[in-house]
Amino acid sequence: MCGIIGYCGPKSAEKVLIEGLKRLEYRGYDSAGICVILDGKLVLAKRKGKIRDLQAHLPRTLAGNCGIGHTRWATHGEVNDTNAHPHADCTVRIAVVHNGIIENFATLKDRLISEGHSFASETDSEVIAHLVEKYYAGDLEEAVKKALSLIKGTYGIVCLHADQPDLLVGARHGSPLVLGIGDGEMFLASDVTAIISHTKQVVYLEDGEVVSLSSRDYRTTDLHDQEIEKKVEHISWELEEIEKAGFSHFMEKEIFEQPESIKRAMRGRLDFEEATAHLGGLNMSTRDLLNVERVRIVAAGTSLHAGMVGMYLLESVARIPCTVEISSELRYRNPIVERNTLHFVVSQSGETADTLYAMRELQRKGATVLGICNVVGSTIARETDGGVYIHSGPEIAVASTKAFTSQITVFYLFTLLLSRMRDMSFEAGQEFIQNLQSIPAKIETVLSRSKAIEGLAKKYCEYQDFLFLGRGINYPVAMEGALKLKEISYIHAEGYSAAELKHGPIALIGEDTPSLFLVPDDALRDKVISNLKEVKSRGGRVIAVAVEGDEVIAEIADDVIEVPRVKECFYPLVMVIPLQLLAYYCAVQLGRDVDQPRNLAKSVTVE
Ligand code: GLU
Repeated sequence: MCGIIGYCGPKSAEKVLIEGLKRLEYRGYDSAGICVILDGKLVLAKRKGKIRDLQAHLPRTLAGNCGIGHTRWATHGEVNDTNAHPHADCTVRIAVVHNGIIENFATLKDRLISEGHSFASETDSEVIAHLVEKYYAGDLEEAVKKALSLIKGTYGIVCLHADQPDLLVGARHGSPLVLGIGDGEMFLASDVTAIISHTKQVVYLEDGEVVSLSSRDYRTTDLHDQEIEKKVEHISWELEEIEKAGFSHFMEKEIFEQPESIKRAMRGRLDFEEATAHLGGLNMSTRDLLNVERVRIVAAGTSLHAGMVGMYLLESVARIPCTVEISSELRYRNPIVERNTLHFVVSQSGETADTLYAMRELQRKGATVLGICNVVGSTIARETDGGVYIHSGPEIAVASTKAFTSQITVFYLFTLLLSRMRDMSFEAGQEFIQNLQSIPAKIETVLSRSKAIEGLAKKYCEYQDFLFLGRGINYPVAMEGALKLKEISYIHAEGYSAAELKHGPIALIGEDTPSLFLVPDDALRDKVISNLKEVKSRGGRVIAVAVEGDEVIAEIADDVIEVPRVKECFYPLVMVIPLQLLAYYCAVQLGRDVDQPRNLAKSVTVE
């Protein structure tokens, strides 16, 4: 689930591992550990808490050149020092780090105990170390393969043996693992950010693949020992992109990056002459696209909210029936795949387990599934039938911001493409493009008002409950605003359609529960104003996000955040910005761990 790093080479393994783990911190974790081979012995250090807690307790001599490191996001067993990875076998000659869940660990553990193994931790992962011990007869790769053949569940692992000071064996099934090829050194990591400062040459492992590496060489095989030829790929991200660049937090940096990241999502894809969009990665002909009768969007969390905006767009602009579904729900209700329905899966990391498994289920039933992902080479990106990269650059903060607006941008592009094949005129297509291209500058304007939003955060951050209300295409934006606030400030917040208020949530309204209303100047404006008044007349405080110069709203709301006027269907892109900023400043004000909020992980690779 969380982070893995492995190193073999001339440098101090400890330094490389700790630096790598720090780069993986953004994924969210609860404990960390490393293991280094030193003079034919394993030196292990592991600690509950942050990497800095681990660093404070590292043994003084850790001068080895080969080692493994891990940040844990506990699934089995309490968060404590013992359950932190790496885990060792009985003889402390073998150590392993593991991301994922071993589903049959209880059976394996019982059997191993009856065979004389003794376990130190409560984790599922420790069985791997003991299984490798059981099968080890001088060949670590062979022992790992035998061990893995007994395991059911998901894993990304790296294993080492004290007798083999220049060897790591890694394998993946359901949890990502990437090999980094350096000059006389090799790396293994769960995600490229951990190794990008050392090398940009990587090999992405697929499920069922095993890699053995030394500082100079590597070999990839499957579990049955068949050699596999792998393509070496080049990472295009720059190191600066994963640093804070003068901002206090990655989240702040990523919020402020949005004018640029949205432009990147559009770059090279808009064709003003033809008044349409080009999305080459879809792998679909004009005929295929014309045959699309329905669209189903499948996602989780923030991506789900982006998908909902996509649904409103596709239905209202392209006039194509569209539904959005929570990926974890879809997977287990035996989904019906209808002909001529196009499916989209949306995931920033491209590793979201719920979405990945839903996608595989849909493909099994014959669906054409397209992906909208950020991470190039991720599992979803590789397994979909086609798709669109959002090109946001690395998103480090756990709470997604720039990926959300770029996912939505891709839906604008797709909507334009489909609309122009159907009823949208040439002029309307050009107008759509102009409107979309004007958005980054409008977002700049909203960002320039961040000080005022910070002031509001100071005023409101002590409240325990919040309602976020919007309608139509801005309803998912209200949900996203509530999610952001919950995620990073831990203030309880709910996002609702403003019309739903009277069907229940209005009972919560009172002095202690402020509401944030999204009030664009669209067709539903008067209705939203009525809902807003209902709240005011029950003593509720109201913050309104409204269009510049809207005097009616200024009159009735307690506080107003102004956004520039845009064409109706483009409001989500400008309305979400103040909500991200409000959540951010509330969290800062409350002293929360903004980039790594409690209990959350960046890429959710467990179901
Ligand atoms: N299931 C393992 C544990 O609870 C690994 C968790 C992880 O992926 O970090 O220790």
